[in-house]
Amino acid sequence: MTDLTRLSAADLAEKLRHREVTSVEATQAYLDRIAAVDGSVHAYLHVNADEALATARDVDARRAAGEELHPLAGVPIAVKDVVVTQGMPSTAGSKILEGWVPPYDATLVEKIREAGLPILGKTNMDEFAMGSSTEHSAYGNTHNPWDLERIPGGSGGGSAAAVAAFTAPLAIGTDTGGSIRQPGAVTGTVGVKPTYGGVSRYGLIALASSLDQAGPVTRTVLDSALLHELIGGHDPRDSTSIPEPLPPLVEAAKQGALGDLSGVKVGVVSQLQGEGYQAGVQTRFEESLDLLRQAGAEVVEVSCPHFEYALAAYYLILPAEASSNLAKFDGMRFGLRVEPEEGPVTAERVMAATRGAGFGDEVKRRVILGTYALSAGYYDAYYGSAQKVRTLIQRDFDEAFAQVDVLVSPTAPTTAFKLGEKLDDPLAMYLNDVATIPANLAGIPGISVPNGLSDDGLPVGFQVLAPAKADDRLYRVGAALESALEKSWGGPLLDRAPELG
Ligand code: GLN
Repeated sequence: MTDLTRLSAADLAEKLRHREVTSVEATQAYLDRIAAVDGSVHAYLHVNADEALATARDVDARRAAGEELHPLAGVPIAVKDVVVTQGMPSTAGSKILEGWVPPYDATLVEKIREAGLPILGKTNMDEFAMGSSTEHSAYGNTHNPWDLERIPGGSGGGSAAAVAAFTAPLAIGTDTGGSIRQPGAVTGTVGVKPTYGGVSRYGLIALASSLDQAGPVTRTVLDSALLHELIGGHDPRDSTSIPEPLPPLVEAAKQGALGDLSGVKVGVVSQLQGEGYQAGVQTRFEESLDLLRQAGAEVVEVSCPHFEYALAAYYLILPAEASSNLAKFDGMRFGLRVEPEEGPVTAERVMAATRGAGFGDEVKRRVILGTYALSAGYYDAYYGSAQKVRTLIQRDFDEAFAQVDVLVSPTAPTTAFKLGEKLDDPLAMYLNDVATIPANLAGIPGISVPNGLSDDGLPVGFQVLAPAKADDRLYRVGAALESALEKSWGGPLLDRAPELG
């Protein structure tokens, strides 16, 4: 029998629909694979075996009874631990939430459950989604399946590593500055950051509310489109949710896979290439541009002059919002509670002791930075200026999209670095997101598609950005690139990853 864990979600869904396999068989195959290799990858913080199998049995029974089911019914999925799941631990990678079991589901989880996707478990991440390597998790490192000594990207390294290690066919990530796309790039997986407001934020443990966006992590562009259509759409419980239907994403992916991009205008962002980008990353990028041209696209260069300031603006806006969002972790409401070692047990001292013990260094660094940037004396100089830069970046995008249909760049400047290599250098860590952050500041959608291996034999990602609410363009261009690349490789990139276990 074929190894069920190697199938794309779309192919597995087809086999389930035709009753060639059952969801119990598929779910069990994934649970077996987790048992075999997750000891070395550590993508999961929590494995939800019993409940996943119960969901699978239920879906199989309903299918056998002839019930009309969602196209992805019975296909297992993993969920980043920053998304709340009723009855299942949700720690956001932090000690401060250790042992907290949410009493409700995020909207996207509700949709996943209603559609009958067995939830395999919760995936590892940088604490409160702050980081680019998953090394800031309070629960240990996740290892890149391409080289276990290397980082899987971050903050959603667990979701990307699970998909790359064939321990989940689909996963959910969140992207505040690149945490879906950058892990996608360094693990050879597809990651999509939808338009801000395109997928409900209800039930995400907030990092920076004006930037956070949940989205799909998968092995193929079509799988991302299928998952995006499932989790997206208007949600009255999220006041920033877009009150309109999604554009047709699956259709766009299928059309793109036919390989014809004639009439599509592609803009290469001058500021997001060249200096600071690894040579192999740049070479693969240029080769991919050639493939887009061969598919009929017109490729031009576009300048976005304010992108130079995006990283600096982001690292003021994000900490400012995070310092406010994280104020609720005070030892009174959720998870950890620590009493002061000596002296009176006042509310304020319990809060200080709890936050001191429960937050890691990166979280403390950003809370301090954020409260400083928001303080009365410095608000205008830091937070206020950063918001102005944000507007300039949005205008850069508006002007660029007046000239082209999509913008493209390498997703990340380098391939996966070694565990520990950048841990003591926060600025070096922040630079990983130089190409992904502008999209979050502007609220526009982006995809990372694996586009080959760099000179060091590690995967590289190609980023496509589109105007807000035009997520379908990501899928059309992404699928066209993917199909051209796979033709040239003779199969998916992940087939070239080393065998684990
Ligand atoms: N790496 C970026 C940061 O540390 C992005 C994080 C994210 O997208 N959650 O903030």
